[in-house]
This record gives sequence, structure tokens and C-alpha cells, in this order.
Amino acid sequence: MNSIQITHAKHSKLKSTDFKNLGFGKFFSDHMLICDYKFGVWGAPEIIPFEAISLMPSSKIFHYGQSIFEGMKAYKDKNSNTWLFRPDENFKRLNKSAERLAIPQLPKNIFFEGLIKLLNIDNDWIPSAEGSSLYIRPIIFATGEGFHASPADAYRFMIATAPSGPYFSGKVKVLIEETYSRSANGGVGFAKAGGNYAGQFYPTQLAIKKGYNQVIWTDDNTHEYIEEAGAMNIFIRINDTLITGPTSDRILDGVTRKSIIQIAKNEGINLEVRKFKVSEVIEASNNGSLKEMFGTGTAAVISPISAYGYRGKDYILPKNKDSYATRLKKIIIDIQTNKSEDSYKWRFKVC
Ligand SMILES: *Cc1c(COP(=O)(O)O)cnc(C)c1O
Repeated sequence: MNSIQITHAKHSKLKSTDFKNLGFGKFFSDHMLICDYKFGVWGAPEIIPFEAISLMPSSKIFHYGQSIFEGMKAYKDKNSNTWLFRPDENFKRLNKSAERLAIPQLPKNIFFEGLIKLLNIDNDWIPSAEGSSLYIRPIIFATGEGFHASPADAYRFMIATAPSGPYFSGKVKVLIEETYSRSANGGVGFAKAGGNYAGQFYPTQLAIKKGYNQVIWTDDNTHEYIEEAGAMNIFIRINDTLITGPTSDRILDGVTRKSIIQIAKNEGINLEVRKFKVSEVIEASNNGSLKEMFGTGTAAVISPISAYGYRGKDYILPKNKDSYATRLKKIIIDIQTNKSEDSYKWRFKVC
């Protein structure tokens, strides 16, 4: 910890930031962590003011998109303690993504010591209002130069943070996509690679033009199986059974997804991890057994889907008195924010 050099921001933006109107990921805290990889080794991490960085136009990030990220949140409880949720999972996944993008592995101590120090220094930036959190973005990208299409020889790891209110998740209307694909067998869909999201923007824009908010991704081969909801994992509820697809090359292994699976089982909810077809969902809609559909991910935690479109027809999800989405969301948020016992040992105390 002592090895992290710190340069404090000259002027804090804390007082000029309106914590009542944060939105999501729009305002950034005073400091950031940086750590460079050069000559085959990761150097010493540093904390510096949040500011512009300078890169050569020949840096490979711009040409070949060697870039990965993570998304995490820090929460403040009513006693002003700071908590993370399963940060080990994000660290492991960052290195899984790194491996797939031919980016060098990041040592665990750089990630954890850097993150903890940063959260200590910018602790006043962690909002405490209901539903708010400090959204944390660890990223690694290629700074090494060259027009040759090969992995860079230099990288930067950074962590930037953004005090955020609840992620917008009003009534989400989704479109089942049959033309474009998010990921493919043997591809990079399981990694949080920047390019995966760039590839989603255009099909999502088309869906928005048609009056939807998001795209439901189906498998690239047959477009018969439902795989993800935008950049979230997806669950459906048929009668009283929750169903979600198995993770694969194409389906990202979400921390929220796997936590919800464990909580649902613990709650005695019938849960199946298996592939499911669009046709099964349509049939369940038609016979009234489709009760819920929701996405899971760190940003929105659980985002209920109110309707979905398929081949020109809209299907409305019913309103439930005993919604699994509402119930599971409360349980996981209470654990994340230290409002309930954490029998799973998922909470991580920062300070
Ligand atoms: C990040 C992400 C998720 C959700 O993962 P969490 O760890 O729960 O935040 C799901 N699908 C995709 C494609 C993602 O990028």
C-alpha cells in the first residue's frame, strides 16, 4: 500500500457536484489509479487527479481495439462503512478477458491495493442515498505503438470512478434480434472487451427507432435461443420456475447472474440453468404461463422487462403481485449495502 504514489487534485470537484442529480456514470471523482505495463512488467501503481491522458496516434488501442473493462460498485452503509460486492469475481474476470485479448495478466495486489487506496482517497465521493453507489470502472488498454496487427508491447491499467444514482430501469421494452449477433462460438462474447459493445450499438439504434429500448440477443447460429438482454444476463419465469441460459463463449458470466442463481435456490425458488428457445417464450406468453422476464447486471442489478417484440408482434408481460424480480432485487441489494446478514460472505469491507 505504501508503494502507491499519490498526487492529490489541486481543486476538488466535490462541492460543485450535485449529488441529488447524479444520473449514472456522468460525473467523475477527483482521482484515478494508473499503472503501466512496459518492458514485460507492470510498474508501480499511482493515484493522480482525474484528468485527460496523452497517447500517441499509433497506440494500438486505436487500431486494433485491445481494450477490456470491468464494472463494479462501492456502497456506503448507514454507519459510513464502505463495501464492495464480490470484487474477487471482477478481478478474475478482468484477467479472463485479458487472456482472450492477448493482454498481459494483471497482478492481484495491484488491482486490490490500488482499488482500496483509491476508494479511501475518494471516500467522500461514495453517495449514501438509497439506490446510489460509486460506480467503478477498471480498464486495461494497449498503449504500445505500431501499425502492425499484433499485440502491443505496452498497456495501461486504470480505475476511474463515478458517483451514481440508480441506473435507469423504467419500463424496458425489448426486441428479439434475429439478424445481428452479439457474440459467436469461439469469439470474445464472454470477455468484457470494448469492441463487443461497439458492435451492439448499431442494432440497438435500429431497435430504438422501432420503439424498443433494448435488444434481446439470440444465438448467432440459429437465432432460436435467447441468450442475453443488451449488456445484461437474462432470466425468464414460466409459472414459478426461473430459467436462465448456461454461460458459454457467447454468454458473459455475470456476477449478478450467479449471485441471483444462488439466492433464488436459497429462497426455495425452482431454478433451471438451461438453454431456452424463443418459441418456448412465445408459447408461454400465449398460454399465460410466462410471468416475468428480467435482465441482471451490476449497473441496474435487476431490470424488469415489460414487453418484448418478435417478428412484428408485441407481447406484454403481466403484472405480478409476487414478482421474483422485486423480491430477489431487494435481497441482493440488502446484502450489497450491509442491510442484512451476508451468509454467502460476498461483502468485502473496504474501510
Ligand atoms: C457485464 C455484463 C453482464 C453482467 O455482468 P455483471 O457481472 O453481473 O455486472 C452481462 N452481460 C454482458 C454482455 C456484460 O457485459
